[in-house]
Amino acid sequence: MTSLKGERRLETELVHAGELRPRIAGAVNAPIFQSSTFEFANEGSYHDVRYIRLNNTPNHVILHEKLARLERAEAALVTSSGMAAISATFLGLLSQGDHIIAHRSLYGGTHSFVAKDLPKLGIETTFVDADDPASWQRALRPTTRIFYIESITNPILEVVDFMAVIEFCRAKGLVSVIDNTCATPVNFRPIEVGVDLVLHSATKYLNGHSDIVAGAVMGSSGHIEAIKRKLDHLGGSLDPHACFLLHRGLKTLALRVRHQNESALQVARFLEQHPAVAKVNYPGLETHPRHARAREYFRGSGGLLSFELKGGVAAADHLFGRIELPAIAPSLGGPETLITRPATTSHAGMESDERAQQGISDALIRVSIGLEATEDLIDDFGQALDGSY
Ligand SMILES: *Cc1c(COP(=O)(O)O)cnc(C)c1O
Repeated sequence: MTSLKGERRLETELVHAGELRPRIAGAVNAPIFQSSTFEFANEGSYHDVRYIRLNNTPNHVILHEKLARLERAEAALVTSSGMAAISATFLGLLSQGDHIIAHRSLYGGTHSFVAKDLPKLGIETTFVDADDPASWQRALRPTTRIFYIESITNPILEVVDFMAVIEFCRAKGLVSVIDNTCATPVNFRPIEVGVDLVLHSATKYLNGHSDIVAGAVMGSSGHIEAIKRKLDHLGGSLDPHACFLLHRGLKTLALRVRHQNESALQVARFLEQHPAVAKVNYPGLETHPRHARAREYFRGSGGLLSFELKGGVAAADHLFGRIELPAIAPSLGGPETLITRPATTSHAGMESDERAQQGISDALIRVSIGLEATEDLIDDFGQALDGSY
């Protein structure tokens, strides 16, 4: 099995990187290798025996190469979910007694894993404001190993000071880890600016069709090897059929994300000038507190936005009752526009004041822009807001 080499533009890598050459029986699409085990070929170690759980079937190998090229990383690993990528990364790199510094606002599953599960293994986390470098030295311990952030946070759409995080990690010998799910590699490739490890919930934009759960980790071969060994033991391997769907979804990533960038910006602008709207969070808006940073480093601001209505929870209920196109559902990154109130879904497990500390009011509305015509979405938000002010 050989593959195309050399650095090409992202759109080309999405289609060609990692593809089987020669093509099997001439098939333009790589087939699904629905085989749990493969003939012995003198593999030297347990981790190299070809077996689905060991993440090394042809469907895995194709994806590893494509995903690595996508983030301009040396190596990549595909996993059975975003949380499998996140948990295998922490468990693969850390031992009892180690310490993590993490941004205070993280994806709920990640927050709960580091705050509740890792302490039972003797791994502690200090939460900081990753936009306030002056506060980090106080959090640092001799045992600190990882600084963990997200490139765009959800649902407030913060863009933290990741360049200062990278510098801090270099100076202190820490591994910088960034969850790049919401920005996507179309808009931002953290490894190009010096981040050590990139994580994805491939469930979201990478697959892009709301039909599988998957994850990915990208970074140096050494880090990926350590994380793969942990994943091999934890068992969080992606099934070959889901590998195939992720592979298929990836080919259109650039087209989808560019449409979602453009559409989200237009919807954000529409909402911002609407008399019923109190506040819109979107890094592409000039009013976003870190708009300059997003413009400097991101090629687009992504498909997620959140907003609050002047009429609060009652007005949000009114909107949810009238909106027609968006599905009222959690998750993000698919073809359908999705709308949620984080206080009742993703962040329902927190107390109201805990949410408020993270800037998540009970009235906050989060939107994942899909692939519908922008004008239809704007018309729909317009009609749904009628009578709410
Ligand atoms: C959804 C999500 C995850 C978790 O991914 P799963 O595929 O659901 O396990 C992690 N990080 C972010 C930013 C997410 O949006």
